[in-house]
Amino acid sequence: MKYIGAHVSAAGGVQNAPLNAKKIGATAFALFTKNQRRWEAKPLTEESIHRFKENCADAGYTPDQILPHDGYLINLGHPESAGLEKSRAAFIDEMHRCERLGLKYLNFHPGSHLNKLSEDACLARIAESINLALKQTTGVTAVIENTAGQGTNMGHRFEHLTAIIAGVEDQSRVGVCLDTCHTFSAGYDLVTTRGYEKTMAHFDAVVGFSFLKGFHLNDSKKAMGSRVDRHESLGKGTLGLKPFRMIMNDPRFDGIPMILETPDDDRWAEEIRMLMEMVRIGDEIK
Ligand SMILES: [Zn+2]
Ligand SMILES: [Zn+2]
Repeated sequence: MKYIGAHVSAAGGVQNAPLNAKKIGATAFALFTKNQRRWEAKPLTEESIHRFKENCADAGYTPDQILPHDGYLINLGHPESAGLEKSRAAFIDEMHRCERLGLKYLNFHPGSHLNKLSEDACLARIAESINLALKQTTGVTAVIENTAGQGTNMGHRFEHLTAIIAGVEDQSRVGVCLDTCHTFSAGYDLVTTRGYEKTMAHFDAVVGFSFLKGFHLNDSKKAMGSRVDRHESLGKGTLGLKPFRMIMNDPRFDGIPMILETPDDDRWAEEIRMLMEMVRIGDEIK
């Protein structure tokens, strides 16, 4: 079973996210549990939490189908102590919010060294940040997203993900999310059948599919290896539709949330229908 959806709006309160997901025919969704561009956030109210859970239950969303994303300001590998402390506190708050909502994942970008720290030291710092967050929460898995490798962002090599996981004490609560745009921009082929198989085999050898907890489904405006993170609507970018056909018919990706972060939200319902159709056609051929 493929769970397919989009990163929907939670404007007006987290309880609106499952309603917005249902409207576009999604069987999965992502959301921000607070304003993603600010440090500060009011705690979630009991009322909002109750309505979120109720709306999820009514629409048939279980925590397996929901992939919350953390805010943009957090850098768990920050080279300076003030920035690191602020990021860690904000991340722990986000983990707590997920915990209170009864969710099992929190998806985040690993962090950036800002040219003030070696890559290895940055990766170790990110792992330590995860350790601190896991110690203060229960039930929520920290899901590291691979990146395009823009600027000084870590996480664009599968080896970076492995290095972070290796530094995490409780490996039952750490996972990864693969973003198709980031994977391709980072230099891993997904377009040719051979390239796709090679990339996935490499991921399995370096990280392991047991750690894969989610997918971001985005086409890319930029070329393979550009290391530039610009999402595009499915089929309109440099990836085209073929990678998504392969992913939709790959049983290794059953049972995890697969989330569109494509730029045109008016197309999400159509993109979800198209992805579900790819699964159906693939099943018929089998
Ligand atoms: Zn993403
Ligand atoms: Zn991106």
